[in-house]
Amino acid sequence: MTLTVTSLASGSSGNALLAQAGDDAVLIDCGIALRTVEKLLRYRGIAPETVRAILLTHEHGDHVAGAAALARRYKIPLICNAATHDALAETLAGLAVEVLPVAERACVGVFDVASFRLRHDAADPVGYRVSAGGATLAVAVDLGSWDATTVAGLRDADLLVVEANHDRELLRVGSYPWALQQRICGPLGHLDNMQCGELLSHVCRDRSVDVWLAHLSEQTNRPKTALAGVQRVLQVAGVSQLRLNVLPRRSVNAPGGAPSWHSDARLLQQALF
Ligand SMILES: [Zn+2]
Ligand SMILES: [Zn+2]
Repeated sequence: MTLTVTSLASGSSGNALLAQAGDDAVLIDCGIALRTVEKLLRYRGIAPETVRAILLTHEHGDHVAGAAALARRYKIPLICNAATHDALAETLAGLAVEVLPVAERACVGVFDVASFRLRHDAADPVGYRVSAGGATLAVAVDLGSWDATTVAGLRDADLLVVEANHDRELLRVGSYPWALQQRICGPLGHLDNMQCGELLSHVCRDRSVDVWLAHLSEQTNRPKTALAGVQRVLQVAGVSQLRLNVLPRRSVNAPGGAPSWHSDARLLQQALF
């Protein structure tokens, strides 16, 4: 069974990641409008009602904006922890919500799902590990700093989706008010390119792994800047075997329009070397 991961949207204007295996699919966050996510799913041959669950990382709008509407229209269960559920109580009223305590595991169709705690200014933000067919996706977006829990949450995954939100210098010279700058670069804000590289160097010391750099700021980062910044840190740390890609903010309905990852292609690649 192949695990396929597709990025539908990534960044402060919306986040949604689709994982598919066998006939099952789950969304990790749904921070894009209902009509957009419907279109993006259908383009990929997925009837929205067949999505088994929407996993929520935290309650911020760029992660949940379309989640309740999608869940309501297609009767899709939502999965989140108790504090996130409380923070979204009004939005999720009347919907099927399965509470997954942080660090516990659950089976969702063919997927094995587990969460791990992140440091971010939300009620109880988490990252997720989603496994199927012997392959694992690990996601950590929206975190201002990282620790051993973050490293453990990401370790041994085959595809990592990790935030590289901003470039420190672009943030400093940019137009954001001082208070917002402080929030973004604080320990409960967002990871910059250097911090992302440092985190990856601790997670992937001796493994060849695919990495998607996610949640890039439109104003205070650039794809090339993110790649160069992360690569510089990895080089200094002596980590050279990561395959890095930058996620676009929005995927489009066109061939090649959405970054996709297939676990069997990864296995094929490994067999070639
Ligand atoms: Zn976000
Ligand atoms: Zn957030």
